[in-house]
Amino acid sequence: MEYLSVMNAQKCILESVKKLDVESVRLERSLGRVLAEEVRANRDQPPYDVSAMDGYAVRSADLANVSATLAIIEDIKAGDMPRKTVQAGQCARIMTGAPVPQGADAVIRVEDTLAVSNNSVQINRAVQPGNDIRRLGENMCKGEVVLVAGTEITPGVIGILATVKRAQLQVYRRPRVAILSTGNELEGLDEIFDPYKIPNSNSYALMAQLQALGIEPLLLGIARDDPDELAEYLQQGLEFDVLLASGGSSVGVHDYVRPTIEALGVQMKFWRVAMKPGHPVAFGTTQRAEGWLRSSREPPGLPLAGENATADVFVFCLPGNPVSSMVCFEQFVIPALRRMMGHVRLYRRTVQARLAHAVNMRPGRTEFIRVVLSRDDDGSYVATSTGTQSSGVSLSMAKADGLLVVPADSNGLAAGEQVTVQLLDGTVFQDVAGFRE
Ligand code: AMP
Ligand code: MG
Repeated sequence: MEYLSVMNAQKCILESVKKLDVESVRLERSLGRVLAEEVRANRDQPPYDVSAMDGYAVRSADLANVSATLAIIEDIKAGDMPRKTVQAGQCARIMTGAPVPQGADAVIRVEDTLAVSNNSVQINRAVQPGNDIRRLGENMCKGEVVLVAGTEITPGVIGILATVKRAQLQVYRRPRVAILSTGNELEGLDEIFDPYKIPNSNSYALMAQLQALGIEPLLLGIARDDPDELAEYLQQGLEFDVLLASGGSSVGVHDYVRPTIEALGVQMKFWRVAMKPGHPVAFGTTQRAEGWLRSSREPPGLPLAGENATADVFVFCLPGNPVSSMVCFEQFVIPALRRMMGHVRLYRRTVQARLAHAVNMRPGRTEFIRVVLSRDDDGSYVATSTGTQSSGVSLSMAKADGLLVVPADSNGLAAGEQVTVQLLDGTVFQDVAGFRE
């Protein structure tokens, strides 16, 4: 297989993955999910004309002569219903959110009035009809579509859902993801420290990248570079929607991941992308029999509904280098998972920045350089490299705010040049990759 460009690799992945099925969740647990249904207003909002201010509900005609003293006939608090009709020469004291009484056609705020006594007020200002009144249905009208299917549930959306009294919602399911690290040299987090071993950091960095997307993965542990042991672990991973296998995907004689996974029936769609770091990344697909996750919790032997059905499984073979693994997750795994969860905006946000220093490059691959972002005096972003870009230097990934994307045809960048930086953090995504590769 040929080296693919980053964009073509993303395209290949996105052509394979689809939205997952739908499940029902409580409003309180729905932040970050994507609505799988259209939501309509259950009533007019506000349900009647209400005051926008603390003040007096008046008849605008009474104030035509600029100065008037009005009799206060009632006190209407938020939550009260008015009992009286405002007649000529009268007004009602009213609080924000309280219904405007019959007869009144405007509200004048308390700051524009002069108290005369407890039951009369002097007003020295004319008002237009409708002044400081929030009209019935101004926010939403009964039956109106307020949220379309595909809307990402943000705090603002949660507010709307609560307004229309939706306690239970239909959203796209999150993928079940398994992580497998491979390598004889690896030592587990809770294993006794051995100075000759390499701590398994990838499983945890990948776990956190998934958690940041709202996905709680299962860590399958560490498989040795042995085809039989690998096959056993990989087989477990293929029972999930997505398997992330780290390490062993390159050309070393003990890099068994790809052949083993192909032997298990996974069809590799690509292997190798023209990028740095991360070029040995591979992607494949297969199907699993539906029902495994359920059958593991149910008595054996029971026939299951849909037992013969199959579901798609996606496998990403990520390079073992800690930085490469994370960069490949950013470029390929994030768009795939977000599509599965129903999102339309699949890509990390990009920003334009000024490069603080020159960067040497040889053309050929799209490079992702770890950078810290700061602001210059006029408020624009400045990108500064985190230092050595060896893919083994994981501390520089920990420091980075973003990845500067250097197009494959670049011969190097000069200090002060305008560059594109892909942010490494945040809950806001965009609908295009946003960089030139
Ligand atoms: P590989 O892709 O298996 O050739 O591994 C490339 C480099 O990444 C080697 O130096 C490995 O020791 C290192 N590496 C592989 N897997 C992990 C892991 N899970 N955590 C930390 N480093 C790893
Ligand atoms: Mg290895």
